[in-house]
Amino acid sequence: MNIAAHMLRAGRAYPERAAIATGARVLFRYGELAERVGKLAHALRRQFNLVPGDHVGLALSNCPEYVEILYACWHAGLVAVPVNAKLHANEFAFILKDSEARLCFAADELSSIVGDAVQTTIDVNGNDYAQMLGTEPLPLSAVNPEDPAWLFYTSGTTGQPKGAVLSHRNLLAMAWCYFSDVDQQSPWLSILHAAPMSHGSGLYAIAHVMQASCHVIPESRGFDAAEIYELIEAWPALVFFAAPTMVKRLLDHASDTDTVNLKTIIYGGGPMYVEDSLAGLERFGPKLAQLYGQGESPMTITALNSRIHGKSDHPRWHERLASVGIPQSAVEVRIANKDDEPLASGEIGEILVRGETVMSGYWCRPAASAETLRNGWLHTGDFGCLDEEGFLTLKGRTKDLIISGGTNIYPREIEEILLKHPDVAEVSVIGRTDREWGEVVVAYVVPQSAEQTDSDVLDRFCIDNIARFKRPRHYRFVDALPKNNYGKVLKTELRLTEQRYRQ
Ligand code: AMP
Repeated sequence: MNIAAHMLRAGRAYPERAAIATGARVLFRYGELAERVGKLAHALRRQFNLVPGDHVGLALSNCPEYVEILYACWHAGLVAVPVNAKLHANEFAFILKDSEARLCFAADELSSIVGDAVQTTIDVNGNDYAQMLGTEPLPLSAVNPEDPAWLFYTSGTTGQPKGAVLSHRNLLAMAWCYFSDVDQQSPWLSILHAAPMSHGSGLYAIAHVMQASCHVIPESRGFDAAEIYELIEAWPALVFFAAPTMVKRLLDHASDTDTVNLKTIIYGGGPMYVEDSLAGLERFGPKLAQLYGQGESPMTITALNSRIHGKSDHPRWHERLASVGIPQSAVEVRIANKDDEPLASGEIGEILVRGETVMSGYWCRPAASAETLRNGWLHTGDFGCLDEEGFLTLKGRTKDLIISGGTNIYPREIEEILLKHPDVAEVSVIGRTDREWGEVVVAYVVPQSAEQTDSDVLDRFCIDNIARFKRPRHYRFVDALPKNNYGKVLKTELRLTEQRYRQ
């Protein structure tokens, strides 16, 4: 089926329900939104002569038009290529050219940035866009379930971004998993898009169109802690997706806002440390849910739902909070060694996934696709282990593994320990080549206060908590960790910095 059918259904069945809002103000209701989608789809096909399967870029920060443009693409049988609005001009050009987008929706200064990379640019605040809405709605295009719907560019922490081809079937399975595994309790009334809609927040818009719930776009168009607390008060049963760094910012922002309206904060996309989960549970109650996914299996590998988060009397509560939960219902998860042989519970290996949400491959990258989708399984490039009860714990990216004296050291384990020390606000652990050991562990630490933390104190703390060989040999105290636009720490940059220390 075409997932844009959900929009038509919502428009017919719930025409008066609030659909799009900025801040506390409703802009469109579902009846009107569905009609706008049909009209935009008409213009894309008849005015701009796009044909089913063509690619359409979205170079937009979060905005009220985002949802209607995504659905207009699908309604017309086109493929959306959402691009993170915070990327550099060169990165925009790369993605738009690589994806062979025929047309791109843009706004404000992004319109001129994308101009050279694509033949047709439509400024969503300009006349062309308004004219597109002056047409008649197009009937819903028929698609095959395997037809691409979203070309999802990976965040490229380890190289150039690649476009994961996600089909209508993949996105539908992802949305079903949202209800069955991630955010299980009804009602689903409002979703706040504070994280980039080109990524997780936009993907979860699909589940919320299925429920005809209201999409709330913050006036700031981004993640502003004070504004988020205001919107929590304004909207009923509000959910939002946030990277762990955003959850931390929310917790660091002193506010006595009553969060009774808050339904769920869904976090994922990067490691959330147990200390922060505990702080979140204390502030918001059992309203946290976690997902582990990647562009290649969007939002859908494992989940740790809010009930498990809240079950503080469970004997392994902390271990569970340190995990990423159990496999979501559309996928199977396996831990394998280098030869793809399955490993037993407790053993660490690469996380493999197969099931309904796994991409068909990367756009125009046959070699990378074959390498990633070997033997019928998606190779995530993440290390982890499953416990006896099926809970998965991540150990970091395979590329970040440190091998010291022939023994594997997983950065995540050391980061978890150091974060327990009160002097440590943030930490990232990398390996540095060493003549004697092959590699030694280096910890980049953002101290909790301006006063310099003592590396001897942290060393003693590690000796008391982990095997001696795992402890960092060097500490680097920094003001901030390098992060990409999704808030993921760029260990590649830290490794380059570390090389400079050696010179
Ligand atoms: P992307 O494809 O850009 O969304 O990046 C996906 C990667 O982010 C995964 O392969 C993991 O390394 C990481 N990631 C996603 N979710 C989590 C999570 N809940 N905890 C830790 N890391 C995560």
